[in-house]
Formats: sequence, C-alpha cells, structure tokens
Amino acid sequence: MPTSTTRPSLGTLISRAVRLRCPACGQGKLFGGWLSMNDSCQNCGRKFDREPGYLLGSIYFNYGITALLVIVIYFGLYFSQTMTSTGRLVTLGVFTLLFPAWFFRYARGLWIAFDEKFDPWPNEKEQRELEKRKLAPKPCHVVD
Ligand SMILES: [Zn+2]
Repeated sequence: MPTSTTRPSLGTLISRAVRLRCPACGQGKLFGGWLSMNDSCQNCGRKFDREPGYLLGSIYFNYGITALLVIVIYFGLYFSQTMTSTGRLVTLGVFTLLFPAWFFRYARGLWIAFDEKFDPWPNEKEQRELEKRKLAPKPCHVVD
C-alpha cells in the first residue's frame, strides 16, 4: 500500500518508468529478469498486473513510439540522401522488428506510469478486495 497520500508528478512517473521502477514508490523493480515481470512491488505492494489483459495497453506505447521513430528516421534518411530506397526499406524493416522487442519493458513501464497517473492503485474496487483479503482467514498449508 502506498505510504503517502501525495501523488507523484507526471515527470516523476516517467522517470520511474524509464528506470523500470514502481510508479507508486519508485523503489521496487518492475522486472525480475529480462522477460519476467514481478507481480507486485517488493517495497510498497503496488500490483503491476492489475487484471487480465491490463498490460495489453503497453502495446499502444510500443507501437506509437516505434511508428514515430520510423517516420523521423525515414525522413532523416530520405532528405540526407545517404541511402537508396532499398537501403531505407531494409534498415527500417530491421528497426521495426528489433526496436519493439527491446522497448517492450519500457513500454510496460510507461503504460503502468500512465495508468498510475489517471487511475492510481488501489482504486475503490481493488481497495475492497484488499480489505476482504485482510479479513479472510489465511489459507492452511497442507504438509505431506
Ligand atoms: Zn512500490
């Protein structure tokens, strides 16, 4: 749970996103490995994957930034006349395959930061679920 009632600014959220840190506290890591994302913040408990399909929103960031970069690079190469049209096609084709694969972690970070800005965790529904879990009896562990 967040320990402070003040919300981080947009600049702070973006800074935490590009450093792949928790948007709520800035301490916990979003990823445990190159591809494995942590379920929640180790420091404050902020859930990173709030519901099924939640992280699909990061595709908007990944696609949008990739498309923007392709447009900028295309016109840069076109007006500099450093490559033939086939060279530009191959360069940008390779770029559009490799860049999103590398950028997906940052796209997720940006998506979670964007979401934290407009729908901070926990919202009312999540708060009710958290309170239910606190009241519910802890599950028994079966020992063989
Ligand atoms: Zn945190």
